[in-house]
Parts: sequence; structure tokens; C-alpha cells
Amino acid sequence: NEILRLETISKAYTSGAGRRVQVLDAADLCVNAGEIVGLVAPSGAGKSTLLHIAGLLDNADSGRVYISGVDTSQQSDRRRTATRRNDIGFVYQFHHLLPEFSALENLMLPQMANGRSKATAEARATELLASVGLEARGHHRPAEMSGGEQQRVAFCRAMANAPKLLIADEPTGNLDPETAERVFVTLVKLVRETGLAAVIATHNHELAARMDRQLSLSGGKLIPL
Ligand code: ADP
Ligand code: ADP
Repeated sequence: NEILRLETISKAYTSGAGRRVQVLDAADLCVNAGEIVGLVAPSGAGKSTLLHIAGLLDNADSGRVYISGVDTSQQSDRRRTATRRNDIGFVYQFHHLLPEFSALENLMLPQMANGRSKATAEARATELLASVGLEARGHHRPAEMSGGEQQRVAFCRAMANAPKLLIADEPTGNLDPETAERVFVTLVKLVRETGLAAVIATHNHELAARMDRQLSLSGGKLIPL
């Protein structure tokens, strides 16, 4: 059950000095439902670029991105945006929760933006928070929570619209090792429960080693580790 497929994805940037940098060079990737793929490579190797393209936030220079078998490169911008909102959840190094809203509200807003009623959104938000052990934090704002708690809420938000694919860029990069461990375990539990496909970029080799598959980026290509 293939969720994400990247075919011969290439992307180059032109640096300030006018030098062309080929960040991705015919990179291929396939991720199935229920599979957690770790992306481990040094800073500057192109992880964020790859994740942005896989998450339909950025376009490749060439190549194709399939989500659930649909070639998104053939879709209109509007259609791609809809696919991104419905099918893909994002988590970053920093939580990016809305500071003036409670945890529950942060999980309800994206659902209501996708057409869910307030009551349905609140029920799902409550259930998600409970699944990561934060049932008592629903009415707290992000600033009233610890870094690990904030990051667990960010995972819940990524899951709020029941995506098929989770994309995480250094999700534990800002946490101390113990907190990173707990947050990682929660993430794996969420992914396993929902049968999601996940691609997680990390500098943490220990965590990556516990994923289903590890890939690195070298010479603009994805290679098994
Ligand atoms: P990226 O995911 O592309 O590394 P981030 O937003 O996580 O970017 O980090 C911002 C900057 O900090 C980047 O230029 C990156 O090179 C650097 N950086 C991020 N994490 C680390 C790390 N663990 N060690 C060294 N440099 C890092
Ligand atoms: P990583 O996430 O592995 O740290 P990135 O994908 O962020 O790597 O960056 C890969 C390379 O592409 C780096 O050399 C970075 O400086 C360059 N780069 C990334 N985004 C841009 C951009 N918008 N414009 C120019 N260069 C970029």
C-alpha cells in the first residue's frame, strides 16, 4: 500500500555568488502505509528540500511526486494544496503552535478549516490529546507547557485531519535526550495506531536506528544506510 513515491526528483539552487548547487539529483523514494523511514544526513545535504518537495510545499525542477498513486506533478496548484491539507501532516523542530490558543483549540482549528463542525473537532482533539497523555493540558496555552508537551501537541495537530503521510523535520532536535526519547516513543505509537506512512529527518542516529528503514542523502540521491 504505497503512500509516497518520489521518482527522479532533481532540485538545484543558485547561491548568492551565482554558483549552482544541485541539492537533489534524480532522487527516488517509496514509502508504504505503516512504514517509518528515517532520513539521516549532515546539515546542508538536502533533507529539508526533499521533505518540502515530498510534502508539496515546494516544486522540484524535474521528477514526479505521487501521493497514494496520484501524480501530483500533473495537478493544479489548487488541487495540490487540497492534497497537502487532507493527506499530509507536518511536524518541525519548533512546534509552531498558535500562542494565543489552547492546546485543544490548536487541534480544532485545522479541522474546522477543513469543514468539520466545532463539536466533532473538539471530540477528535480531546481524543488525540488523550492518546499522547495530555488530557489534562487541553486548556493550557503552548507557553504553559514543557518543550516535550508542546511537541506532542504539535504531533497531534499534524494528525488532526487524519493524514496518510506524516513528514517530520528534526521533530526532537530541540529537546534534551530524555525528552526526545519520550516524544519519539509517542510519535511511533501514534504512527503505528493510525497506519500512517512517516518520513522523519533527524540528526539522532539512535532514534533513526529504531525506525523501519534508514536513508541518507549523498550526491543528491537517497541511499540506504
Ligand atoms: P535543517 O533541518 O535544514 O538542518 P534547521 O531549521 O533544523 O535546518 O536548522 C537551521 C540551521 O541550523 C541550519 O542551517 C542547519 O545547518 C543548522 N543545524 C540544525 N540542526 C543542527 C545540528 N544538530 N547540528 C548542527 N547544525 C544544525
Ligand atoms: P538540510 O535540511 O539537509 O540541512 P537543506 O535542504 O536545508 O539541507 O539545504 C540543502 C542545500 O541547499 C544547502 O546547501 C542550502 O544552503 C541550500 N538551500 C536550501 N534552500 C535554499 C534556497 N531557498 N535558496 C538557496 N539555497 C538553498
